[in-house]
Amino acid sequence: MNAPQASLPTEAASLDIGALPQGLYIDGEWRAAHGGREIEVIDPATEAVIARVPDATLEDARAAVEAAARAASGWRETPPRQRSEVLRRCFTLMTERADALAILISLENGKALRDARAEVAYAAEFFRWNAEEAVRITGEFGTAPSGTNRIIVDYAPIGICVLITPWNFPAAMATRKIAPALAAGCTVILKPASETPLTAYALAALYEEAGVPPGVVNVLTTSDPGPLTAAMLADPRVRKLSFTGSTGVGRTLLAEAAKHVISCSMELGGNAPFIVFDDADLEAALDGAMVAKMRNAGEACTAANRLYVQAGIHDAFAAGLARRMAALRVGPGVEAATECGPMITRKAVHKIDRLVRDAMARGARVLGGGRAPDGTGYFYPPTVLADVPLDADMAHEEIFGPVAPITRFHAEDEAIERANDTEYGLAAYVYTRDVARGMRVAARLESGMVALNRGLVSDPAAPFGGVKQSGLGREGGQHHGIAEFMEAKYIATTF
Ligand code: NAD
Repeated sequence: MNAPQASLPTEAASLDIGALPQGLYIDGEWRAAHGGREIEVIDPATEAVIARVPDATLEDARAAVEAAARAASGWRETPPRQRSEVLRRCFTLMTERADALAILISLENGKALRDARAEVAYAAEFFRWNAEEAVRITGEFGTAPSGTNRIIVDYAPIGICVLITPWNFPAAMATRKIAPALAAGCTVILKPASETPLTAYALAALYEEAGVPPGVVNVLTTSDPGPLTAAMLADPRVRKLSFTGSTGVGRTLLAEAAKHVISCSMELGGNAPFIVFDDADLEAALDGAMVAKMRNAGEACTAANRLYVQAGIHDAFAAGLARRMAALRVGPGVEAATECGPMITRKAVHKIDRLVRDAMARGARVLGGGRAPDGTGYFYPPTVLADVPLDADMAHEEIFGPVAPITRFHAEDEAIERANDTEYGLAAYVYTRDVARGMRVAARLESGMVALNRGLVSDPAAPFGGVKQSGLGREGGQHHGIAEFMEAKYIATTF
């Protein structure tokens, strides 16, 4: 087992993956998996194996729950100010090591360095924000309407939390859960995606250095998440499941959690509409579309998945988007000039290709890209499709890649009806110079978040989450994120 190295190298060239912590992180120790099996970590740009991490078993999962249980009372009783200062140090260390962390994210996930740097800043911000929230957890006090007693409401940490995260934001999806859970006084077990475990382990070493006590955060990687999660949820000390990932897996986990009536927060898939009205500022809409579509090369739950453009601006918008997409530099994420890195796996490339072929077969026109290149690496070119019919598979499935499907519309109601014609409801984007129309449309869109004349919604200070089958609960925001990790206790008393 590699010895943990708490500080990542600061020079890009000196990033020695072999020297990074890669054991299961349980009770503040770095361990091999029971049975010694390992999972290979692949660089999606070269398809080379860059590391091997332990493949946790049921015994390891039980050990992680035991560790979280042993640490629970100590952490819960740690004064909020002290917890806050530990979280603040996590923010400081992440910020100091942003470059090295970004390179690591870029290597294992494939995303362009500029996206990885943005992710580290976003991920670190959850620690700063929750360091501030940790000391502002307040209860309620009032008189019962009958006048017979007082009502006191206290908020307590919910208990041990199982946190499961996807590969597309290996740092931010973890810190968006760990920071509020720790601020609330909970101990946690994180199961990161097996495609991108190195970031989770590097961050675990950083938390330790920041003063997070042993057992408060435990991290385990597994190639068999179903049984391990089921075993952890079956332990009565586990009271929370916070999951970010696909809607399909979310449904399975909700059913599993229902067996034990465990509180669930679910951040699931998206199918974001991006609506451009005739009166929009064309350049601003194009800027926004490039961010909403191409952040993380389209591998984002908030990614614009369907672009509905009003007839009067349609042709100029489509031509402008095709020009901008064609100008993007595709390459390995770690190369400084890269603007669009590889997809996470070959399977992801095949899925994107299937969706593009399906749209073309139904009459979509290719304005750029549209075919996966031969050769090494899981690359897919930035692609723009016009006249994408409403029955195309990509109108209903997450593309999760650099493909922008454009469909023309005429009337406001028509755009809203199309935008809402999906089981998802995470993010939506609207471009118009008419603020009244923007607010009216935002109110009618069935989504948890609306970006009005902006290409980016994510902000640790705002409640992130979806409606319909995009999820349950919110992460970040004033009180929202932390509330997911607390229970209200009502005390009735007379005095
Ligand atoms: P995924 O659902 O395949 O996997 C997510 C996590 O769940 C991974 O850690 C995976 O190992 C684990 N997992 C898979 N099967 C499991 C099981 N049976 N039991 C327990 N854990 C299991 O998703 P993905 O491909 O890693 O990520 C992409 C998806 O995540 C997209 O749908 C995207 O929209 C969604 N996502 C949502 C948000 C959000 O905030 N709403 C953010 C990022 C990604």
